[in-house]
Amino acid sequence: MIEKIKDFLGFDIKAEKYKLSSDPQFGIISDEKKPDKWVFSTCGYCGVGCGLYIGVKDGKAVYTKGNPKHDVNMGTLCPKGLSEHQLINSPERVTKPLIKLNGKLTPSTWDKTYSKVAEEFKRIAKEHGDKAVGVISTGQLLTEEFYTLGKFVQLGLGTNNYDGNTTLCMASAVMGYKQSLGSDGPVGSYEDFEKADVIILIGANISDNHPILKLHIAKNKKKPKIIVIDPRASKTSQMADMYIPIKPRSDLALFNGLAYIIMEQGWENEGYISANTNGYKELKKHLQNYPPQEVANITGIDVKTLYEIARQFAVNDAVLSAWTMGVNQSFMGTDTVSSIINIHLLTGHIGREGAGPFSITGQCNAMGTRESGFTSSLPGYRNFGDMSTAQEYADIVKVPLEIIPTERGYKYAEIIDAIDRGEIKALWVVATNPLVSFVNQEKLRSTLEKLDLLVVQDAFMSDTAEVADVVFAAATWGEKEGTYTNSERRCNRANKAVEPIGEAKSDFDIILEFSKYFDGVNELLFSHWKKPVDAFNEWKEVSRGQLCDYSGISYELLEKQGGVQWPCNEQRPLGTKRLYSPDMPFKTNDKKAKLLCVDWFPMAEAVNSEFPLILNTGRTVEQWHTRTKTRSIDILNDLAPEAWVDINPSDALKLKVKSGDRISLSSARGIVKDVLVRVTQSVAPSTVFVPFHFNTQLINNLTAESFCPKSGEPNFKQTAVQLHSDKVPEGLEFEEQEISGVISHIKTKYEGIKVKVKEMS
Ligand code: SF4
Repeated sequence: MIEKIKDFLGFDIKAEKYKLSSDPQFGIISDEKKPDKWVFSTCGYCGVGCGLYIGVKDGKAVYTKGNPKHDVNMGTLCPKGLSEHQLINSPERVTKPLIKLNGKLTPSTWDKTYSKVAEEFKRIAKEHGDKAVGVISTGQLLTEEFYTLGKFVQLGLGTNNYDGNTTLCMASAVMGYKQSLGSDGPVGSYEDFEKADVIILIGANISDNHPILKLHIAKNKKKPKIIVIDPRASKTSQMADMYIPIKPRSDLALFNGLAYIIMEQGWENEGYISANTNGYKELKKHLQNYPPQEVANITGIDVKTLYEIARQFAVNDAVLSAWTMGVNQSFMGTDTVSSIINIHLLTGHIGREGAGPFSITGQCNAMGTRESGFTSSLPGYRNFGDMSTAQEYADIVKVPLEIIPTERGYKYAEIIDAIDRGEIKALWVVATNPLVSFVNQEKLRSTLEKLDLLVVQDAFMSDTAEVADVVFAAATWGEKEGTYTNSERRCNRANKAVEPIGEAKSDFDIILEFSKYFDGVNELLFSHWKKPVDAFNEWKEVSRGQLCDYSGISYELLEKQGGVQWPCNEQRPLGTKRLYSPDMPFKTNDKKAKLLCVDWFPMAEAVNSEFPLILNTGRTVEQWHTRTKTRSIDILNDLAPEAWVDINPSDALKLKVKSGDRISLSSARGIVKDVLVRVTQSVAPSTVFVPFHFNTQLINNLTAESFCPKSGEPNFKQTAVQLHSDKVPEGLEFEEQEISGVISHIKTKYEGIKVKVKEMS
């Protein structure tokens, strides 16, 4: 009572709560949370891959501190990293395996849960074939777990319909690297941000999404020129020397236009081109369709500025082009990536310090899933259908050649379509939450209802877990061990700090135990495997000699070095900073990169009288993806508690709204109500921006099923929408704009596209 009175009167300064203490490793820290030990690890959120320590007190994670000696983050963490320990004890953790009984998810034993799923998988495979089981995983597991999962799914269950949520973010980069350079694999290194003369950030809001990368730019002694190309004046644009507000989805035309200017002006690097590339003549002819004025019309960037950007490649020693979702999440994402690579090949800005095309990865281990085998390749970037590499893989893992898949399976969206058609009957979803993250949510929800069995393996009760038939209770970051590989190919060590909560198990243990419910599978694939290091050791052999060569990496080396960039082997015992330096040829048959003729196309869903605005979606620094990990962390939710919509002042005026009001958004797919208005110049008139994290304002109710045909990545970034305010419920009028930017040889017609107007309820 006395304490309460003191508190009420303001006399209680909470001396005990805020008391400080001295820690031998980190100096002054909170006394209340002073850990018994610090555990070396790596952040489990984004692809930056920050090194950190987890503070453990009385068997619980109580602290997260950046590792000052780690090359990636030099001791700094973003708000998510700083509060990461809190996710372990989230009230939304799944602590026991669950089986749906009478419509309700009910705790069960692991044995009953595995038995039920195994019996159903076997029944479905018998009645409809092995490929009637589909798997959608994530970029959140450890590499050891990805390798184990991929091996079990492809060789044990015998289905190649296995993709990951990485197709929602990085697939276009994967396919762009493959078609231009012969293999997936990010070219650059964070050190390139420190060495470049010019840094071009394209569709990359690193301030929100990869904030720690700014430290590397700050370390650049040359004070590089920073060019930010983005339709939205994001936080990142505020650090630009040149901010270029490009028209939505015109990036491919821009890069073709820049290549045209480089060739027209003779700014290309002839020596590099003839020694290292193919396709120059064809590209030169093709680019005649992209003269500067035409490109200016398409992109909204004036001709003088186009020449100025192109000139940077000619007058500087090292130009770095980094991109993220603004490029990848496009219906022509793969070709846009190739158009960026084209410029770097033409000018020789690749494979050198500070120079290169560089995709920045979204999730902590999106690289792990790409490397260790899923829908687009066998483990170690081995292509499907190449029988000699299939035999090599079979020999290493000691399985019959016949069980190695010979062709790629369905991509993420194709898996969903196959469920809709009744071809896939069971879906196993691992550490991802399609019921927030995928496009056209209403359709997805009704598609998932067609399944005979939906299994979700997750650490949190996600929106997708809530509708599952079975939930495998998984451990999360800090409760398990292995490795993550970040955007710059740096393999980092993640250690176990605490025991998994309740009866949850690591994904590695779940897969191994589950495999025992299939006759002979565990013995064939995982004989003598007990710990993640067993998977890691096999993965090292499987990757040996491949571009993503881990054969020289050990857990000890990772802790000693603060991560190692692959390829790492006998020739490169401490790893490799950047790919395709003069001693590393491209991974094509003739060892040369391909200059590719790629075309820009107008958007399939153009703005129209019903839906006259373009919706752009993205992220905010305080939240993580669909918030399964972050929605119970107070500080993050205090900072970003709900979605908002950025609206240009001129549109706000017409809609009679101001910041703080509420508004609805609609598209041909659905409606999202009660979204907070933020009036801002950061978006152009007739465009709006909404973060996609929030299930309370589920913005993917609006997004369309439009995908890159090569990568399968959804075109999340441009959706035709209408806004409905209380005072102007009918929304904005469509303003005819001058038709511009029709490339003469492209026959695609985009006028008159029919959109079904959904009744608003
Ligand atoms: Fe974690 Fe990414 Fe933040 Fe670093 S920048 S602390 S890796 S979320």
